[in-house]
Amino acid sequence: QAKSQGKASYAVFDQKMYLQTLHLVETEAALRQAVKKQEFCLYYQPLVNLQQPHRLEGFEVLLRWHQPEKGIMSASEFIPIAEETRQINRIGDWVLRNACKQLKTWQVEGKVTTDLYVSINLSGQQLRDPSLLDTIDTILTETQLDPQCLKLEITESSLIHNIQVATEIMELIRSRGIELSLDDFGTGFSSLRYLQQFPISTIKIDRSFVDGLNNSDRNFRITSAIVNLAKALGFKTIAEGIESHEQLIELQGLSCDAGQGYLFSQPLPATKVENYSTCAIQIA
Ligand code: C2E
Ligand code: MG
Ligand code: MG
Ligand code: MG
Repeated sequence: QAKSQGKASYAVFDQKMYLQTLHLVETEAALRQAVKKQEFCLYYQPLVNLQQPHRLEGFEVLLRWHQPEKGIMSASEFIPIAEETRQINRIGDWVLRNACKQLKTWQVEGKVTTDLYVSINLSGQQLRDPSLLDTIDTILTETQLDPQCLKLEITESSLIHNIQVATEIMELIRSRGIELSLDDFGTGFSSLRYLQQFPISTIKIDRSFVDGLNNSDRNFRITSAIVNLAKALGFKTIAEGIESHEQLIELQGLSCDAGQGYLFSQPLPATKVENYSTCAIQIA
């Protein structure tokens, strides 16, 4: 009896593994075609100044994958597969090039003021790719975008592999006039020793802390500590995932500099951004 049950659970396990592997293999193959088939598109989430309410500062660029038969897949589903299958560098180049082109087009067409920036997520693999700097230089030359209009977001966990090399590359990026943000702060290793070594200008406070800001004393204290730490070290703070007025009020009280979240706006397709006529955000 026990033996046959054991076998049965093996069979279930095998089938689950099989389906997972199949999904991975299929997704990997589909990802290889996605750029050519023009299945990727970029969404733009407004980044809003919290101290001069509610001035638009820029947009975080978020990648979406639209497969005609499967619909839209969010980044958190396929970015890990793109990383695992070593496709993220090629896809990341596409994101960089297209986001820079788009912002330049908006500037030329007078749809945005030239002080707005795009903030683009970089994966750890891109940071370790020796051709990253060449790619960035080429894209800036091609698009003629002011480097100050480009910011790059890096997560702490992508930096731990080789801190020395990562710091050097970040310094080279910084020397182009491109600012760096530390994304999802508080969820990685958050080493205070390295915090000051990295040439970053901004800390993005992870949504998990903002989430319980107004009903969890603990999250309030953590967020308050992060904002104060960032200020003490001279970093700008951006809060992720602001969904309610209460959270906004708390963050303003803590002197957090900027934020993003569904309270202000969901990530928008390019055509919707173009309709943002003024730089004042309406709160939902
Ligand atoms: P992230 O960089 O921390 O981006 C913020 C995520 O929070 C986005 O999810 C965004 O849609 C979501 N978000 C924004 N406001 C709210 C809110 O008020 N409530 C909630 N619940 N969620 C909110 P998304 O677009 O699914 O992206 C997930 C992650 O995938 C990103 O996290 C980023 O790490 C990665 N990613 C996205 N685009 C790219 C890309 O072009 N390249 C790379 N390497 N990674 C990317
Ligand atoms: Mg980000
Ligand atoms: Mg983030
Ligand atoms: Mg996050």
